[in-house]
Amino acid sequence: MSKYIFVTGGVISSVGKGITVASIGTLLKSRRITVSVQKLDPYLNVDPGTMSPYQHGEVFVTQDGAETDLDLGNYERFIDVELTAESNVTSGQIYSAVIAKERRGDFLGGTIQVVPHVTSEIKNRFNRLAENSQADVVIIEVGGTVGDIEGQPFLEAIRQMRNDAGRDNVLYVHVTLLPYLSSTQELKTKPTQHSVNELRRIGIQPDVLICRSDYPVLESIRDKLSLFCDVDREAVIPLTTVDTIYEVPLVLEAEGLGQRIVDKLSLNAQPPDLSLWQELVTRLKTDHEPVNIALVGKYVELQDAYFSVREALCHAALDHDRDINLCWVPAEDLEKDGNDALLRSAQGIIVPGGFGIRGIEGMVNAARYARNNEIPYLGLCLGMHVMVIEFARYALGSPEANSTEFDAATHHPVIDLLPEQKKIKTKGGTMRLGNYPCKLLPGSRAAKAYGKNLVYEERHRHRLEFNNKFRAQLEEAGLVCSGLSPDGRLVEICEIANHPWMVSCQFHPEFGSRPARPHPLFRDFIGVAKDVLREGAQPPLPLSP
Ligand code: GLN
Repeated sequence: MSKYIFVTGGVISSVGKGITVASIGTLLKSRRITVSVQKLDPYLNVDPGTMSPYQHGEVFVTQDGAETDLDLGNYERFIDVELTAESNVTSGQIYSAVIAKERRGDFLGGTIQVVPHVTSEIKNRFNRLAENSQADVVIIEVGGTVGDIEGQPFLEAIRQMRNDAGRDNVLYVHVTLLPYLSSTQELKTKPTQHSVNELRRIGIQPDVLICRSDYPVLESIRDKLSLFCDVDREAVIPLTTVDTIYEVPLVLEAEGLGQRIVDKLSLNAQPPDLSLWQELVTRLKTDHEPVNIALVGKYVELQDAYFSVREALCHAALDHDRDINLCWVPAEDLEKDGNDALLRSAQGIIVPGGFGIRGIEGMVNAARYARNNEIPYLGLCLGMHVMVIEFARYALGSPEANSTEFDAATHHPVIDLLPEQKKIKTKGGTMRLGNYPCKLLPGSRAAKAYGKNLVYEERHRHRLEFNNKFRAQLEEAGLVCSGLSPDGRLVEICEIANHPWMVSCQFHPEFGSRPARPHPLFRDFIGVAKDVLREGAQPPLPLSP
């Protein structure tokens, strides 16, 4: 039977609860304990698929095609697992399921209530994940902070789990912030005391307190928190801000969190082996020569919108012993004619995914700049659409070439909906989602990157596709369709023939990248970009004898 760790947040959101959960997973995995993870999101959307990245950050896609919270990306990267739709539960899903049961007559005669009907539905999701994953430990993160109205049913459900699963099989971790007051130069514990009080009011006594802070936490502060929050002194764990998120498991391990969890839950554990993780962090913290990459997107003001892309770039750079110097370029700024100054120092250009017309012409200009100046280019989903549009405008001599997402009436719809998709009118969950196989063209850059001719594991999230009506014409002009669906019908990867490295894919390779196992397309993109000399760069002088 699985044991449970429930992680709640206090004081404010965005203090790194997701990274803490992912790190707890790393600590358990390093002791050969099997883990699965679930994120509970209190909002009423069924999933974040229809939400703006400005509201929610990146939408992470699981292999089975669920559109989920970006924390799942951190869980996958830290624990090196592939999660499924069961790992993200929202209030929207819970209420839809309860109401569907009511309409079916499952509760005939009953009044449907938050307790027990909604809380039971929530607990069903915990149990289902535990049964299907057969993990020794299921870690469950409650989104938001204690005190949020929408979060109450989730908190009540995790409270009930102490009795359902048994006291010794459940552990509560509370992640809070210790704000720093510059006038008195001290960290304040009162907000943490209040959020623990709020938890205790609803019947949850945390076993572990993780205290985020930008400054070192004095022993006296730990004593105070232990006393006021009734948490063992050793279980009050400071987590000061670190240089890289991948360092968090090491900090928590050094504070004894791994052993504490093993003891509290009586887990059958091996001695921890974090040597590879330690090595990774040491390399990440070593200064390397930077490689300048321009990321041209429409949501660049909110970098969380491209969380996995940024991580995948960082993994790839590390593989080449480089640091990423990422320049966030708002696509709209490239729409003004000849405004390529923003790209002049870039050794590589990446155009990630996105929806809607804003900034598209700027992205097309970035692709043109990359093609004309032989700058390495990696297009991800929308980035492939943009590359195809740009190439078609040049090859077909038609400035009208476009995707029907942006110009429904174009005579050259090089990117379009498939005929069978045209009848779909609803937006949520109706895209091509999740893993699809892809056959690679031998000898292409894509095949070289992957080192094989068939790929199974790439995740999709898009509605429009390359339009085959233009395939022959564009191929003749130098576009290489180097990745196709096994039936040859869908173009999954394309590249530009006479160019050092201009490759785009219809899927999202960023989701599959791992810190110690960069994605092949990202790895090769950086591999070519790192040797490109740009404005202001000095070629190495032949000084050594
Ligand atoms: N907007 C495009 C589509 O729907 C691309 C989506 C994406 O980049 N994820 O097909």
